[in-house]
Amino acid sequence: MKDIAYTRVESVGAALDSWRRHPDAMYLAGGTTMVDLLREGVFMPETVIDISGLPLREIRVDREFTRVGAMVANSDLAWNPAIRTLFPVISQAVLAGASGQIRNMASTGGNLLQRTRCPYYRDLGAACNKRSPGSGCAAIGGFNRSHAILGGSEHCIATHPSDLAVALTALDARIRVAGPDGEREIPITEFYLPPGDTPQRETTLERGELILAVHLPHAPSARNSHYFKVRDRQSFEFALASSAVAADLVEGKFAHVRIALGGVGTVPWRARAAERVLEGQAPSEMLFAGAAAEAVTGAVPRRHNAFKTTLIQRTLAAALRRLAEPS
Ligand SMILES: Cc1cc2nc3c(=O)[nH]c(=O)nc-3n(C[C@H](O)[C@H](O)[C@H](O)COP(=O)(O)OP(=O)(O)OC[C@H]3O[C@@H](n4cnc5c(N)ncnc54)[C@H](O)[C@@H]3O)c2cc1C
Repeated sequence: MKDIAYTRVESVGAALDSWRRHPDAMYLAGGTTMVDLLREGVFMPETVIDISGLPLREIRVDREFTRVGAMVANSDLAWNPAIRTLFPVISQAVLAGASGQIRNMASTGGNLLQRTRCPYYRDLGAACNKRSPGSGCAAIGGFNRSHAILGGSEHCIATHPSDLAVALTALDARIRVAGPDGEREIPITEFYLPPGDTPQRETTLERGELILAVHLPHAPSARNSHYFKVRDRQSFEFALASSAVAADLVEGKFAHVRIALGGVGTVPWRARAAERVLEGQAPSEMLFAGAAAEAVTGAVPRRHNAFKTTLIQRTLAAALRRLAEPS
């Protein structure tokens, strides 16, 4: 058993200073992902920097966007009245994940950086390029029922697990970060990296960078947004397939359509071709089916997960049907 040094910080400056002194350190927020992976030996840092006391717990509605601090608990985010009105897809996505107790501990920043639930990633006896680069991918020839059909590579087919990240992808959210070189903003569509040849690199965050907040633009379509998730059981379970959709209905036709898919991609999967099918069209079952077919263009089903190609199309059609209902 390896000793890990623990330090707790109360300001962003102190967190970054601490990281400069311990460049192999990892940040610890709610700990609902971190503690499991430390116990299992998937992560082995010398130091953890506890950031749960940082003053990043505010949800603030500004003129052009709403700012959600990185330490806002998942439950506070889901039940916040402004979020429920302005961005219902966020509330629905968060409440469709984990359990009440976990949502009370889990933070917004930690949720976005939680790790895949691919069982081979957590099994130190299995080959996994994400955990141990160059070791291979046990999932490709193994039991791959829960794995990705979109965005995989010959090195990794692990799905991205976060429901919140899927909702944020349909809202064109931006991630505000601070690092050794200052602050910057990353559009969520540029935040996650598909595995390619380097599955161990999951985001465009630089080493030591800290998520400060999520910025949610006040697009009119965000108010008319919806999340639909299918899983093996109704609680405490990750998505087999999920769809986050946002759109206006202008004179009975879809406008400003945004679609993101979960449970099927190696990253939260933005379905732009499906958006184009819907734009300017009146809702109908035939239109939903056409958009859903576009959404799975390029899908590569594996031995045990071919059912996902159909399931994700039905999930997307169900979410679109809901959007088109009169409120
Ligand atoms: C049984 C179970 C079921 C679950 N079901 C679901 C589900 O259905 N859907 C779903 O989406 N999630 C689910 N989760 C995952 C849960 O949502 C995440 O564990 C949680 O959101 C992580 O947040 P945290 O604050 O605890 O992060 P931590 O565990 O503290 O950290 C996670 C990662 O984020 C990094 N980190 C945290 N905050 C920051 C920051 N501000 N800046 C930079 N790096 C940071 C840490 O270094 C670490 O790498 C489930 C978890 C469990 C245990």
